[in-house]
Amino acid sequence: MSTTTTKPHLGFIGLGKMGGPIAERLIRHGNPVTVYDVDVRALDAAVKAGGRPVGSPRAVASEAQIVFTCLPALEIVREVALGTEGVCQGGTVEILVDCSTTGPEFATHLGLELAKHDITLLDSPVSGGVKRAREGQLALIMSGNREAYARVAPVVEPCGRTYYMGEQPGLAQMMKLVNNLLSQISTAATYEAFVLGAKAGLDPDAMVEVINDSTGMNNCTLYKMPTSVLPRTFDYGSNMEITYKDITLCMKEADRLGVTMLMGNMARQLWGYGVHHGGAKRDSSTLITYLEEWAGVKVVGAAGRGRAR
Ligand code: NAD
Repeated sequence: MSTTTTKPHLGFIGLGKMGGPIAERLIRHGNPVTVYDVDVRALDAAVKAGGRPVGSPRAVASEAQIVFTCLPALEIVREVALGTEGVCQGGTVEILVDCSTTGPEFATHLGLELAKHDITLLDSPVSGGVKRAREGQLALIMSGNREAYARVAPVVEPCGRTYYMGEQPGLAQMMKLVNNLLSQISTAATYEAFVLGAKAGLDPDAMVEVINDSTGMNNCTLYKMPTSVLPRTFDYGSNMEITYKDITLCMKEADRLGVTMLMGNMARQLWGYGVHHGGAKRDSSTLITYLEEWAGVKVVGAAGRGRAR
């Protein structure tokens, strides 16, 4: 006897650096996926992969039972979810899976507002960056209603591994902020260390090799330095304003909880400096260029020699 399981109709809103590859993996896995983005190029790429385009979040939520969002700013998530043409106005949606990083306070409020429309929010920030999103190797950190999680977890299997933090709204967001805090502090520290080493005459390629076999190794020395900074391509995958948003949300939570954050606030100031000095829309890895300017040195690897930046 053969059993057939029908895949749920999915929706995806926000097809950018992270949302694009996640949506594509869901489509290629054989799910019907209705897609929407305000940027026509982002929408076109998802349509080429097999997504069905519509003209508003409301239209997405009038075809799909499970709608994903992956959006760059809190006010945009609010408008897409709760606006007059928002997901809350759709006739078929049951679960909204928000993959954006918004912080626990916002997620809790959003969950309460969506509940008034009989929509369950599953909080689902993601970690791993653009490359791992393409490869289906993300960490999908989830919290919210347990049954909703049980429905969504198998759907997102092609995108990576899920981690369920519990029913309390916002827990997944807090987990994501804590991870990013660590990542952003170590990235800032790595840029500072490499600028010093280069100024002292060390070869940047040799520094990567030695550090990655020593105790200073971290995600930035393993990936960002060799793939984006030393070749001077600066294409790691997240705009600086998004990094700044995340660490700002984290410092806000720390303040609310009365936890002193010396290093976190320093890292936030550094990214804030970049954002306020022309870097908002540039790749986050270009933060090192400000430190280079202060020190009067560039951290260039063999692959980056001859490149202007
Ligand atoms: P992005 O700017 O590349 O993509 C956002 C997309 O949303 C764009 O395609 C944009 O056109 C679309 N958009 C904007 N307003 C819209 C609206 N009103 N309706 C529909 N679409 C709209 O951003 P990203 O880097 O993909 O980040 C998205 C989220 O994922 C953020 O919350 C970020 O914190 C989180 N995140 C990003 C990374 C990363 O490495 N880039 C990693 C983990 C988590």
